[in-house]
Amino acid sequence: MKSDLNSSKRKFIFFLAPAIFLFMVLTSATPPQAYQIRTIVIDAGHGGKDSGAKGSRSLEKNLALEVALKLGKEIERQLPGVRVLYTRRTDEFIDLYKRIRMANAAKADIFISIHCNSAPGRSARGTETIVSGSHRLGEQAAAIRENASLLLEENYKENYQGFDPKDPESYIIFSLMKNQYREKSVKLANLMQQEYVKSGRVSRGILEQGLAVLAEAGMPAVLTEIGFMNNREEEAFMISDKGQQEIVQNLVDAVSAFKKSVER
Ligand SMILES: [Zn+2]
Repeated sequence: MKSDLNSSKRKFIFFLAPAIFLFMVLTSATPPQAYQIRTIVIDAGHGGKDSGAKGSRSLEKNLALEVALKLGKEIERQLPGVRVLYTRRTDEFIDLYKRIRMANAAKADIFISIHCNSAPGRSARGTETIVSGSHRLGEQAAAIRENASLLLEENYKENYQGFDPKDPESYIIFSLMKNQYREKSVKLANLMQQEYVKSGRVSRGILEQGLAVLAEAGMPAVLTEIGFMNNREEEAFMISDKGQQEIVQNLVDAVSAFKKSVER
């Protein structure tokens, strides 16, 4: 009995203990895989029969597509190893829920939707970035405008669980949807707004609204409004190559800073 105990103690000291030690060293040296930005989905707002906001010389759907394609190209050029996918590359209408489902299916790490703003009157100006989340009924201007695309979709009531973009109560559906990526979405939105400001643009800040295009996102997701279509000066800026380049670089810099901060 006594020698049995000694032999099992010896076994532990000579075999099991080093094995446990080795296991602990190995597991601590390889922590769980950190969050990496490998795939980015870029979504040009509206398209096809849905023109979005109308400026005096241009349509939102066209400006959004031009900026989205340039952004994707620059991300791939400036951030090697990152793959970019687009929800649309041409002037076509795509249901909002399909856009985010494309990103979910591609296991995208970031979803960026590009839009242009509009407001009554011509004095409104500046940029804003929207994340999906809790929101108050009084702050739904962008949500009502951007969600209005739903009305052009067939069977939208089935696809959005009875969601009616014209009914304020419907927004509760989206506010109740869990948004586990809220914190990272806000971080990315903040970085985008900071970059716009560095270039001298007006920042209208970050909004949390019930946006159909972001509601089901399984990744940090933002919708950025790059300027006002109804403001002649901003429309000219968004049409110009120089303006588009500046906006694109702002967004690349924001994505790059976000990537560095989350991958650290
Ligand atoms: Zn829009």
